[in-house]
Amino acid sequence: MSKKKIATVWLGGCSGCHMSILDIDERILDVAKLADIVKCPLVDGKEMPEVDVTLVEGSITSDEHLHEIRLIRERSKIVISLGDCAITTNITGMRNYYTKEQALDQAYVHAPSNDGKGQMPLHPQLLKLNDRVIPLHEAVNIDYYIPGCPPSADTIFYVLFELLNGRVPNLDQERKLKYG
Ligand code: SF4
Repeated sequence: MSKKKIATVWLGGCSGCHMSILDIDERILDVAKLADIVKCPLVDGKEMPEVDVTLVEGSITSDEHLHEIRLIRERSKIVISLGDCAITTNITGMRNYYTKEQALDQAYVHAPSNDGKGQMPLHPQLLKLNDRVIPLHEAVNIDYYIPGCPPSADTIFYVLFELLNGRVPNLDQERKLKYG
């Protein structure tokens, strides 16, 4: 069996889901026997290559994310929504309760960590947030969902290992469908 290709992508998330991928620990060697990780935040590849499986963390917060998830869908045989932010918007989507301007003001000007010295960035054109945060499945078709904040490393490994061996993962078991 020829080796497959995996990508992992970080959109509007906190990187916690990627920390869970790292928590696969030594089982990454079992994955490496079956597939090469050709794109991930630790691999300095700018282009989205054609791959068999892509795990996507985080929700869509900008046009840039929208472009990226469409490209991922185009170039991946299987797309996995990884974690609650990707599936429901979760923490990232909390700003949907406010206007974009209120959220930016809170982050840059009034956040307690700014110690009273906050200000909006000098180049506001860099703040290209969309008005609403959306989950991945509102933009593209998703093949599998791995919930959790973050998802457990055991579940991530299980899903990857099954897919890489040509099997359909059984996510109906309760412990694998745990949100939060
Ligand atoms: S689901 Fe949780 S761990 Fe994953 S990106 Fe969102 S907040 Fe972070």
